[in-house]
Amino acid sequence: MFQCEDCGRVFRRLKRYRENRGPTGENPLPEIYWACPFCGGAWFKVADCPVCGERWPEEQLTEGICPDCGGMILRQLAELADKEFSREERRYIREMIQI
Ligand SMILES: [Zn+2]
Ligand SMILES: [Zn+2]
Repeated sequence: MFQCEDCGRVFRRLKRYRENRGPTGENPLPEIYWACPFCGGAWFKVADCPVCGERWPEEQLTEGICPDCGGMILRQLAELADKEFSREERRYIREMIQI
């Protein structure tokens, strides 16, 4: 999915626009570009985080998970590790999976 930077709307498909740029009268090549179907604005990719269901810019997701949920997962993991493992074991785990 995409979201418009200008009007903020979310849409599945970009619209193709054609624009004649350059000096008039000569044989201007139409410039083709893809933009928001509602206002022609610039856009960025968005996706829904599968954990919280919120919509995020795709570049902020890690393995499809948003930073909020990612932080929570790691905190839960750390709490779990605190309960289940001794300090020496935790040190080993941190070393092995690098969290
Ligand atoms: Zn728009
Ligand atoms: Zn999330």
